[in-house]
Amino acid sequence: MSTTIPSLTDLHARGAAQQPTYPDAAALASVVGELRERPPLVFAGEADDLKERIADVAAGRAFMLQAGDCAETFGNVTAVNIRNALRVQLSMAVVLQYAAQVPVVKVGRIAGQYAKPRSSNDETRDGLTLPSYRGDAVNGLDFNAESRVPDPRRLLDVYNSSAATLNLVRAFVNGGFADLRTVHSWNTDFVRNSRVEAKYEALSDEIERAMAFMIACGVSDDAFRTVNYWASHEALLMEYEHALTRIDSRTGTPYGTSGHLLWIGERTRQIDGAHVELLSRLRNPVGVKLGPTTTPEVARELVERLDPDNEPGRLTIITRMGAGKVRDALPAIIEAVEATGRKVAWVCDPMHGNTYSTEKGFKTRAFPVIWDEVDGFFDVHAELGTWPGGVHIELTGNDVTECVGGVDELDEDALADRYETACDPRLNRNQGIELAFYLAERLRN
Ligand code: PEP
Ligand code: MN
Repeated sequence: MSTTIPSLTDLHARGAAQQPTYPDAAALASVVGELRERPPLVFAGEADDLKERIADVAAGRAFMLQAGDCAETFGNVTAVNIRNALRVQLSMAVVLQYAAQVPVVKVGRIAGQYAKPRSSNDETRDGLTLPSYRGDAVNGLDFNAESRVPDPRRLLDVYNSSAATLNLVRAFVNGGFADLRTVHSWNTDFVRNSRVEAKYEALSDEIERAMAFMIACGVSDDAFRTVNYWASHEALLMEYEHALTRIDSRTGTPYGTSGHLLWIGERTRQIDGAHVELLSRLRNPVGVKLGPTTTPEVARELVERLDPDNEPGRLTIITRMGAGKVRDALPAIIEAVEATGRKVAWVCDPMHGNTYSTEKGFKTRAFPVIWDEVDGFFDVHAELGTWPGGVHIELTGNDVTECVGGVDELDEDALADRYETACDPRLNRNQGIELAFYLAERLRN
């Protein structure tokens, strides 16, 4: 088990992928110095608790719902947005927990998801080419030269926005907002007010009866009133993640304290790269995204690097193959990982392999195709006898129009109505709950 972490210089020497080029090195150094002095955003003990829950996911005794924005923005840190995000995620979790009959481990893409890897370094509009937007952590979304210059002071805003978000999230999940009865009443509203099939109404009624039964049995109020909820984000920016890495005073070992679960994206999972090196040293639970070009050999190497001690709950593998590829590409990867003797949490991201652009230029994803990848993921695990441990969804609690299909039958023309994402298209609230009801059917069968 490692007790030291590499220096920032060592990490950059590995050619860290997807890093901004800051014009002012002194300003960057000053920000990093300031961040090193700030209190941790999460405690090591909380990360340990999450690791235990993820161990249950890996062992088939729990299901993970990891969901939230593709890219959080500073402007969207409002009470309404945070409340809506929690509301939809908790609603979905109730349905899943009832269907799966195991605890649902609730992990937000929240309170830190401000940096984005990009496929292209620049973006051209009407003949003007500027550096790509890399998330509010790096530069501005506005399409002008000034806004697109990387500004290190934004890293302090990431810290502050994450702290403000976490503060409200903690208050919500412990302060009565997450009461199971309230949360379920949101689902009942959904099934009554939308055109979903009658079987969803039946499922919702069943949950209602189950709750009434528990109350009649005298199940304690606390079990109804509070939930556990964790924060996760892609650990992308070396300066920020390194500055928030702390040695835990209880154990003398390093933890990333910018979030409970940190993951490595599809574009930064080079085996000898900086991201794998840094996260391999942290004691948090960590994740890695695997896309359709991943070979079984690479999957094996990554697992061995990221989970050197074969530790329960340490590693979550988030597969994002695309609906057309998941059934062919996933089995060999699962087999290669299982052959190492490790039990990882297998989580399906049905979003990132299924993005396309409409004729009018909106990046979107189609609900039935998203579902098809989830379905394929379940089929493959059923075939291999492994546990489909969870889903990873880009989702907002707001009524946006970014993904097509679903119960409201959004078509491509409707995308222009409320297309609000700063990066990738998200499911809206109704689409999220609808997905949970679909999943419930799969989990029950
Ligand atoms: C993301 O999760 O927003 C993302 C960029 O995913 P991936 O690394 O899988 O492409
Ligand atoms: Mn995304």
